Amino acid sequence: MIAHQSCILVVDDNESVRDILSMLLEARGHRVVIARNGQEALDMMRRESVDLVLLDIMMPVMDGYDVLRWMRVDPELSSKPVVVLTAIHDTESIIKCIEMGADDYLFKPINRAVLMARVDASVEKKRLRDVEHKHIMELAILQQIDRELNASLNLGEVARITLGWAMRQTDAQGGLIGIVEDDKLIILQNEHLPYEEEEVILLKALTGGAKTNGRLQTIQLTPEQTSVKNVQHRLIVPIQREGVVNCLMLLDKEQTPNKNDLNFLSRLRDHAAIALVNAQLHAAVQEANQAKSDFISLVSHELKTPIAVIRNYAELITSGRSGDVSPKQYRFIETIRTNVLRMKALVSDLDDISRIESGRLRLDLAHVALENVLDEVVSIVEQQATQKQQKIFIHLDPQLPLLWADRFRLSQILTNLMSNASKYSPEQHDIFIRAAVVRHDGEAFVQIEVEDNGIGIRDTDKQSIFKQFFRSADKKVRAALGTGLGLNIVRRLVELHNGQIWFESAYRKGTTFFFTVPIAETAVSTPQIS
Ligand code: ADP
Repeated sequence: MIAHQSCILVVDDNESVRDILSMLLEARGHRVVIARNGQEALDMMRRESVDLVLLDIMMPVMDGYDVLRWMRVDPELSSKPVVVLTAIHDTESIIKCIEMGADDYLFKPINRAVLMARVDASVEKKRLRDVEHKHIMELAILQQIDRELNASLNLGEVARITLGWAMRQTDAQGGLIGIVEDDKLIILQNEHLPYEEEEVILLKALTGGAKTNGRLQTIQLTPEQTSVKNVQHRLIVPIQREGVVNCLMLLDKEQTPNKNDLNFLSRLRDHAAIALVNAQLHAAVQEANQAKSDFISLVSHELKTPIAVIRNYAELITSGRSGDVSPKQYRFIETIRTNVLRMKALVSDLDDISRIESGRLRLDLAHVALENVLDEVVSIVEQQATQKQQKIFIHLDPQLPLLWADRFRLSQILTNLMSNASKYSPEQHDIFIRAAVVRHDGEAFVQIEVEDNGIGIRDTDKQSIFKQFFRSADKKVRAALGTGLGLNIVRRLVELHNGQIWFESAYRKGTTFFFTVPIAETAVSTPQIS
């Protein structure tokens, strides 16, 4: 007897050949099915899970060549091993059959020893091929699972994908997956078990007291422990990262879990562990970000009132309405006033950041004439520039169309860039503003440039320029006041407009910031209204 019983299909129109082969093969422990011609053989192969075909060539109805031809084009049959039975010395037929996909041949009359050797070899080859095929299929499934898991950083979605694959591949009728916290499980995803999403349950109640010590286990369920009909078995699948069980999956099944279930689940949990941890980290980062935004929002809101009060009192004192003010006191109050204005600007920046980060900043988009906005911005920045004897030169394309922008925010972008250009340039170094229509990826935008001939940006600072709170350690930067929030807000505002921002800079020579703003569609060819 051999270790693996195989199902062998004997195809021959000669009854005595069929009988002899059947007898010999059955005596060897194989299961034998028979067919009298090619047509019956194909029908039988489609009905039965045949491991090997012993195929006669010359037969009525459909001969061996036709069987091979049909098998080759049928994906279900093309990998089945075939040994052709042929008359001795019929080399031509053997060559033809091997060319058509047959694996081996046997001469008639059949020699028992040769038959057994060929059958054993073919059956073993088929077994190895099946094992290989199974591994390839498993790999393909795991690759697909990885693709799905890697596409998401959302914890609920990762849990849903993991549980879905686990239930499908193990034929489970119910299941759930959740996060382990001490002796409890917080449910992330549940299929047909009597719990709510995000419900917190004692692990002991779910696992019948079995320890979730990192090992895959199966427990027997009593009818009270499951609401799924006929289910009797529960697979407990701990998912661990670096030796710590941080997630747990339960799968309830009608049939006893088998070796394939356990093998698949042990691979799945390794793949899912990384994705689940990443998703948990992502959720934690988002939560921390939210907490930061909430804090900034609270602080900036709470500071607004005291700042306004200090400012009003400072103005009241300088107005002389509360009594005489000595020149020295006047200077002190002026210092208070300028610093309060700085605080006000900082609070307003913080407020913008918290509103942008929480998605609460909405643009009020409308048709905007750049020239009008620039008039306003120049009047704001002029004082600062004049103090440094800097002139502002503006050159706009005469055909410049209207912009599709939030006028207030566009003014904020330009004020920031122009104020930086003045702040980071020595005295008497002028500022240049240009605007023209450009095309990016086939779409027309207005590109605005703010150029200075100032201190420039060091190469090592270039990648950090738009980061929150970044200020260069360059002494000439530190000589000016600043918070490092302006350009971060500017970038986000430009991006909210669907524009892009970048810069070119040469250290100690100067810097040019470029940004794009969409054109108001109806105004593409309309000359600018001033
Ligand atoms: P702040 O000016 O308040 O420091 P910003 O966010 O506006 O903050 O700018 C961030 C940093 O970028 C500045 O501290 C400076 O190092 C650099 N920077 C910005 N604009 C210029 C410029 N026109 N020339 C040189 N460096 C600049």
